[in-house]
Amino acid sequence: MIALSLAEIAEVVGGQTHDIPDPSVQVTGPVVRDSREAGPGSLFVAFVGERVDGHDYAAAVVEAGAAAVLASRPVGVPAIVVEDVQAALGALARYVVGRLGATLVALTGSAGKTSTKDLIAQVLGSKAPTVFTPGSLNNEIGLPLTALTATEETKFLVLEMGARGIGHIRYLTGLTPPRVGLVLNVGSAHIGEFGGREQIAEAKGELVEALPPAEEGGIAILNADDPFVRAMASRTKAKVVLFGESDEADVSAENVRLTDSGQPSFRLHTPSGASDVTMRLYGEHHVSNALAAAAVAHELGLSADEIARALSEAGSLSRWRMEVTERPDGVTVVNDAYNANPESMKAALRALVAMGKGRRTWAVLGKMAELGDEALAEHDAVGRLAVRLNVSKLVAVGGREAAWLQLGAYNEGSWGEESVHVSDAQAAVDLLRSELRPGDVVLVKASRSVGLESVAQALLETG
Ligand code: ATP
Ligand code: MG
Repeated sequence: MIALSLAEIAEVVGGQTHDIPDPSVQVTGPVVRDSREAGPGSLFVAFVGERVDGHDYAAAVVEAGAAAVLASRPVGVPAIVVEDVQAALGALARYVVGRLGATLVALTGSAGKTSTKDLIAQVLGSKAPTVFTPGSLNNEIGLPLTALTATEETKFLVLEMGARGIGHIRYLTGLTPPRVGLVLNVGSAHIGEFGGREQIAEAKGELVEALPPAEEGGIAILNADDPFVRAMASRTKAKVVLFGESDEADVSAENVRLTDSGQPSFRLHTPSGASDVTMRLYGEHHVSNALAAAAVAHELGLSADEIARALSEAGSLSRWRMEVTERPDGVTVVNDAYNANPESMKAALRALVAMGKGRRTWAVLGKMAELGDEALAEHDAVGRLAVRLNVSKLVAVGGREAAWLQLGAYNEGSWGEESVHVSDAQAAVDLLRSELRPGDVVLVKASRSVGLESVAQALLETG
């Protein structure tokens, strides 16, 4: 972060200094909420959680070298005391990004935020120093903490923004006002909490409403293929740039195919030229993510060739997303257990079949959460698709939703032995351990709450 004195921070956050002998002491960063990350020059933010109270660690972090604690009560060591620690953290982030010369890029959407954020970070990072959200730290605490890691050298600051309701994105854009805003899609993730797709679109669209007008450099990057996202063009004064398959799209892909290993390959078209991309990531859903990243990078001055090269080199920066591991015995394990939704389930099945040509393919699938009224139909459709794609074996793991997966497969192709329903991850592991043969390819995927990564991990341990 940029160096700030304790006095300056206290003023920015409207706090009182306590037990601070020298207010000119500089905070050089990082700003942390985890006491174990506190070190010389850091500022520790004391949150009161359900199980732990950050204030209890105040003495320890100062002992470890932290310059002070941002706290909601005096703690006997150097502290800046405020009424609302989260608001103070936000105010500090707002102040710091205002002083930086970095271009702020924010993105949101129902699925693919982290994947796309990682792509954008790698493409922009190939050109200039880039700071980006680690993992999925996309909420009211993770976002300001990430923004505070930027320095004077930072050219691009790429921030993932998550929303669980109306007003959340507006709050986040208030902390770190973006110049470039990208909306990926309005899917069914969290539809139960939101109430419906219209509400999700309402919430995600707050991102483009927050952008500066086109004359001041504001750029809204929208998915031309998603009607709910496309319609957000009317909610912004920023320049609108469209990506996708639609004829309207400014940034698009031609000749999209999956290579034999299941990696997307296509010709990237931008308003200033075209170039060929073959991705290292797996699954065709990454084409849309790549186009989104390309649109951002093109608007920020990268050429089609520069973008294509970086997209072709980009790896996954986050765990359990189509992680492909080859066991010594020739069994390939594809761990995509980070999360699942109908779109990504289908894309993962297609990638499985592409990389499993001539081999036995196993789809070990669990529940897709938060689908509300659409749950039965969506699980049924995934089961049916497994049959149509000629996946060799479907192992449906869990309760009711797994039964729906299996029933879909049965109804589509009179599948009997080709599909199995097991009650939990351990049962799936037991089955696979006895049935897998050298050369088989196994995809493991379900929603986060199912925790199916344990299956992938167990398969790799016994390999
Ligand atoms: P979260 O809300 O958990 O932060 P996210 O929006 O950041 O999720 P990712 O972590 O990138 O999304 O991906 C979540 C799941 O969605 C993964 O299984 C991934 O394979 C899949 N996915 C990635 N991109 C897309 C896309 N464009 N469309 C549909 N699914 C996608
Ligand atoms: Mg994420």
